[in-house]
Amino acid sequence: MSHPLDLTDPLAAKKQAFSIPEGTIYLDGNSLGVLPRHVPERIQAVVTREWGESLIRGWNDHGWMDLPARVGNRIARLVGAEPDSVIAADSTSLNVFKVLVAALALRPDRKVILSDSGNFPTDLYMAQGLRDLLDRGHELRVVDPAEVEAAIGEDIAVVMLTHVDYRTGRRYDMKAIAEKTHAVGAISFWDLAHSAGAFQVHLAADGADFAVGCGYKYLNGGPGAPAFLYAAPRHHGTLAAPLTGWMGHDAPFAFDLDYRPARGVDRMRVGTPPILGLSALDAALDVFDDVDMEQLRAKSVSLCELFLSEVEARCPQLELAGPRNPDERGSQISFRFEQGYALMQALIARGVIGDFRAPDIVRFGFTPLYLSHADVLRAVAILEEILRDRLWDREEYKRRQKVT
Ligand SMILES: *Cc1c(COP(=O)(O)O)cnc(C)c1O
Repeated sequence: MSHPLDLTDPLAAKKQAFSIPEGTIYLDGNSLGVLPRHVPERIQAVVTREWGESLIRGWNDHGWMDLPARVGNRIARLVGAEPDSVIAADSTSLNVFKVLVAALALRPDRKVILSDSGNFPTDLYMAQGLRDLLDRGHELRVVDPAEVEAAIGEDIAVVMLTHVDYRTGRRYDMKAIAEKTHAVGAISFWDLAHSAGAFQVHLAADGADFAVGCGYKYLNGGPGAPAFLYAAPRHHGTLAAPLTGWMGHDAPFAFDLDYRPARGVDRMRVGTPPILGLSALDAALDVFDDVDMEQLRAKSVSLCELFLSEVEARCPQLELAGPRNPDERGSQISFRFEQGYALMQALIARGVIGDFRAPDIVRFGFTPLYLSHADVLRAVAILEEILRDRLWDREEYKRRQKVT
């Protein structure tokens, strides 16, 4: 059965571009995106033709060496970055480390990295490890998300924030934060894990200095897909690369004994690029080629608003964890429920896949390219039934697995 809003949805046909298992309503594209249908064919060709037949010639003949920059430029459009300011490389965690080192080097007289207690742990862990490694008296200052703006002062070197909170979906006003950050002479660094591909980001227009993000969430690059890293062009001349591998060298195949950084953001590359992973991400990005990101955002808001209003009307057991105003959130809706883990397991057993984040958050991501309003209503009907009949209250749903 279709929902009236699906009949006028300009993105409705996009669902056909994805391979979604029968009977599954997938509300976890913010954790691992769905497989675009044409990706297996592309990977098959890269493996059998490019690798299998071209062998070492593939680096030149198939442009493997430029893949980090090419894929980076495709992501640049989605995040509002200037051309040649994004590379696809490494993992988000590693890129956080690389950016933090480069950002701290731009403010040698300052010692404080400011972040918030809603940030994703790996970002905080990487900052803690770097602080200890540098051993030069740096401080990681972690404040409540609501206190961040007030905490941006003259002693801050870097403001490191995740744009959309992974638990609650709360979204920062990038422009306002970056302005305040620059007003005190600090560096504005954003993690776009839950932003890139979920809505149009405006890194350049909003004045961000650096950004990182995941390839496997809304960008659908596949499990463990390469991440991306952005550095504003105004920093390219002075960017200090902390991991000085040969792929970030100005002339890797000169085999010089001494390191000399490549020009621009390329110097943030480290080692040999993972061609299979990059090819999958490259192919996955095809689905965005003809997408109007404003339409994508409008549909995301429409799906989220429908889900929220239906859940609040039919599932009084759940408490909204996150902003009510769509302008203040990303593309996810989260609720608190004491038995959240068991509830999510019961949902998954019935084909509605979201995820759980400790201690008590059930999280639903909305990916406008492959979800319909009818999907949303079906998911709410299943959720309502599970809560009403306490179907989550079974031992098998309470046994924790390694990945939640
Ligand atoms: C998912 C996520 C990460 C993941 O980092 P990896 O290095 O890919 O494991 C980092 N930061 C945020 C905000 C995330 O949501």
